[in-house]
Amino acid sequence: MAQQDDVFKKIVSHAKEYGFVFQSSEIYDGLSAVYDYGQNGVELKNNIKRYWWEAMTLLHENIVGIDSAIFMHPTIWKASGHVDAFNDPLIDNRDSKKRYRADVLIEEQIAKYDEKINKEVAKARKRFGDSFDEAMFVQTNGRVADIAARRDALHERFAEAMNAGNLEELRQIIVDEEIVCPISGTRNWTEVRQFNLMFKTEMGSTADGAMTVYLRPETAQGIFVNYLNVQKTGRMRLPFGIAQIGKAFRNEIVARQFIFRMREFEQMEMQFFVQPGREMEYFAYWKEQRLRWHKALGLGDEKYRYHDHEKLAHYANAATDIEFRMPFGFKEVEGIHSRTNFDLSQHEKFSGKKIQYFDPERNESYTPYVIETSIGVDRMFLSVLCSSYEEQALEGGDTRVVLHLPEALAPVKCAVMPLVKKDGLPEKAREIVNDLKFDFATHYDEKDSIGKRYRRQDAIGTPFCITVDHQTLEDGTVTLRERDSMQQQRVAIADLHRLIHDRVSLNSLLRKLG
Ligand code: ATP
Repeated sequence: MAQQDDVFKKIVSHAKEYGFVFQSSEIYDGLSAVYDYGQNGVELKNNIKRYWWEAMTLLHENIVGIDSAIFMHPTIWKASGHVDAFNDPLIDNRDSKKRYRADVLIEEQIAKYDEKINKEVAKARKRFGDSFDEAMFVQTNGRVADIAARRDALHERFAEAMNAGNLEELRQIIVDEEIVCPISGTRNWTEVRQFNLMFKTEMGSTADGAMTVYLRPETAQGIFVNYLNVQKTGRMRLPFGIAQIGKAFRNEIVARQFIFRMREFEQMEMQFFVQPGREMEYFAYWKEQRLRWHKALGLGDEKYRYHDHEKLAHYANAATDIEFRMPFGFKEVEGIHSRTNFDLSQHEKFSGKKIQYFDPERNESYTPYVIETSIGVDRMFLSVLCSSYEEQALEGGDTRVVLHLPEALAPVKCAVMPLVKKDGLPEKAREIVNDLKFDFATHYDEKDSIGKRYRRQDAIGTPFCITVDHQTLEDGTVTLRERDSMQQQRVAIADLHRLIHDRVSLNSLLRKLG
């Protein structure tokens, strides 16, 4: 684990050193859990967004996009349940004065039991070799069965307390499990209290009678309140979806792990409206579709898993997370929720406007059901960054840091380098840049040795480097170096476009999705 922490620290400093992510307001000592994206970060982030947007709106003829405002009528958040129920249970340690989410402390305790079980299993696998039967071992080994029973009992008690919103019981679980504050090491805990995560601000001057408005904590409500507009003006028929990418804000109590949990972040959400009774079919469809979207990036199929929810949000009748193996464990990057007709019905009730769909086949009107897919851009960014980072030992004792970014997402697709800064090579290299730049993000680089220039491009994940040398002037060929294998081949300038395009275009990534 310490080793993993180390790697994560290196990734965070790499992100800063190479212009991916900066702490917000850094020269004023920073603003907690708020981050800025630098020159390479913004390109990677835009490419992730484009991949999602095009997978939704180009590959599905029944999905359209919108861009709704961040400010919305405050009653929307009353209707959605956020004013009353968008809370986290918080608890303070009296000695360290540190604040924690009570549910997270308990989830971490459950994870500790899981870790113990996994350790025992790993030891036994080593001992028994090929003949090892994991299921049998877990059932029959007394020590493991005992840990598993304690874990399951804790899990059940926790789920019950969360479902009932029983704050005293949450505290009692923390006490009974003897959970200590990681800073002070003591068990001197306060009561558990609910804390609303929405940011508030005022709209209009006080003379006008200012109104309290919220910074949206999710983009989904902007879609629900535009359901009728889009359905009518787009003449949409069920099933159909509305996609949106935009900022969301949450006053997170515990903001940790870099851009994993931020107070200002970005979401990519799609609400898919279906006939009542067909929601489970579409829930299964989107669960599968979304995992395919992730896996097509080639970060490693074993890094993903589903986590089905046992505690369902008040509006949901099925929910699952897609979790990704970050350096700090499997964590949610995306949620897929069957939200029933809760949101549209609530908006109908609170606005007094009829929000229904007339189904010409059934010859009746009803409130559609909704399947939501909701993914955080920043968490997606983090998962791509973490799984791409490698410190690679090279022959001859050298090392390089390379980002094996999926090529279609890389901020720079190719870098063109004259071998030396004379003899007409820079001019020739500029000529190549001026041709490629219309199709690919292309860098020109003539500073330092060629080895150093390669390392710089490896560190930001540039898939191709093109080197112009004296032979180029004679026969119109260049060397094309590939980031991951570091292999170089001699190719004609005329072939560059095709060779690069085949590998880096978003198009080839989208084609994997069919
Ligand atoms: P968590 O349990 O981690 O707080 P959540 O279940 O509240 O997340 P949702 O409300 O389902 O998250 O939001 C959908 C997606 O938005 C999440 O899967 C995640 O990728 C992203 N997200 C949510 N909160 C944050 C945050 N504070 N910072 C960055 N991304 C976030």
